[in-house]
Amino acid sequence: MRRISIGVQWALRYTLALLVTVSAFGIFTYTQIASRTESDARLVLELQVNEVAVHAAAAEPDEMLETLERGIASADPELKLGFALFDGDGELVVARGSLARYPTPLPAGVLAGEDQSGASQVEVGENYPYLVMAIRAYPGFVQGALYTRPFVRNARDVRDIYLYSLPVLLLLTAGLGYGLARGSLRPLAEMNATARRISGTNLEERIPTTGSRDELDELATTLNDMIARIGRSVERTRRFSGNAAHELRTPLNALRSRLEVTLEQPRDAEEARKALEETAAEVEGLSNVVHAMMRLAQSEAGLAPEQRSMVDLQALLLEVVEFFAPLAEEAEVELVTHLDAPAHLPGDPSWLHELFANLLDNAIKYTPAGGRVELTVERTDDALIVRVQDDGIGVPKEDLTRIFEPFHRVSDRSMAPGVGLGLPISREIARAHGGELSVESHPGEGATFVVQLPVS
Ligand code: ADP
Repeated sequence: MRRISIGVQWALRYTLALLVTVSAFGIFTYTQIASRTESDARLVLELQVNEVAVHAAAAEPDEMLETLERGIASADPELKLGFALFDGDGELVVARGSLARYPTPLPAGVLAGEDQSGASQVEVGENYPYLVMAIRAYPGFVQGALYTRPFVRNARDVRDIYLYSLPVLLLLTAGLGYGLARGSLRPLAEMNATARRISGTNLEERIPTTGSRDELDELATTLNDMIARIGRSVERTRRFSGNAAHELRTPLNALRSRLEVTLEQPRDAEEARKALEETAAEVEGLSNVVHAMMRLAQSEAGLAPEQRSMVDLQALLLEVVEFFAPLAEEAEVELVTHLDAPAHLPGDPSWLHELFANLLDNAIKYTPAGGRVELTVERTDDALIVRVQDDGIGVPKEDLTRIFEPFHRVSDRSMAPGVGLGLPISREIARAHGGELSVESHPGEGATFVVQLPVS
């Protein structure tokens, strides 16, 4: 189907609206004026006929004729007045004026005395509208007639003005409507042009806003926000893929070199076994990175409704602590817990397990021997607050926000095991549960990671 622009659609709508309103108003005005002029004509004729009837009762026949002629002469000639007298049997006695030229029989109703006025509209000759009226007037009947065209002319004039001006009005409205619609739709055309220019590589451009805060301006602002969000997301994805490729390439290169060296010369069984063991450890490291990347993608997608069940957080944290107790002991770090608060919340137990395991793992990893790690649960009105506090090396100020970005690691500790995906995964898990993960830290004094989880 051919595309019809919104400007044309609006112009057509305006025109249709005007057609309907002007027609309704025109029909109303015309019928009002028409009915009023008809009653005016009837009134004039009634007066004339009544006057003649009064004379008919009193005057002699000669005087009667004179009265009829005088009445006709004194009236406006345009009215083409006419009178006729009938005897008691309805036989025409005399007629003057238009009724002499166009005699009209008495209506049967008037003759029988059933109809008092017998007024009727008759067409005499070609297109000659007359109003004819007859009343009983002793000893017979008086009939009067007048030409109604002069009365109807006003109404016809009004109707004609409407009919002739309507096409002009419609054309004018269509033109104006089109112009107005084009004017108010101009921002849309600009939006369209900008949107066409925006692509995966050009997400810096923004749709111009007018600051008028009207609907189109709001739409432009919303679209700009959306483009900004998409831009951030594309940038994140780009950085993530770059980091991921780098993170995988280094161990893969090491793996390849090791295999090449091993294969260069014949090895005895013991050497081969050692090389294979080392290779297996490297493959496991690689597979851990891939697994962490998949976990991050999963947690970013959010929690599916069927994943949610009521989780006893106290029991879950005890399990995590039990798992990490030997590690803490080995690292000579004291692990203290305050888990008395009743703590139930809807969520996925395995995801929550991973979240707290990451935090405890880091706390033990980045706390030197002799340090202390404290795990606390606190309940507020609508949330559970879990704190993992350590008195270890802490996080430098400039890294406080960046440690939640995938693959970011504080530069001077790259010897510690890990790839920098634990905190991003943990934050996404907290967010998937409607909560948040934040950190407070002073380098050298330790770090406190705070997980806030809503209970409903
Ligand atoms: P990974 O531990 O694998 O490096 P994470 O995403 O878990 O990755 O942590 C990112 C970085 O944040 C770590 O490299 C570390 O420098 C810092 N960090 C995390 N937890 C702590 C902590 N409790 N104390 C000090 N630094 C921490």
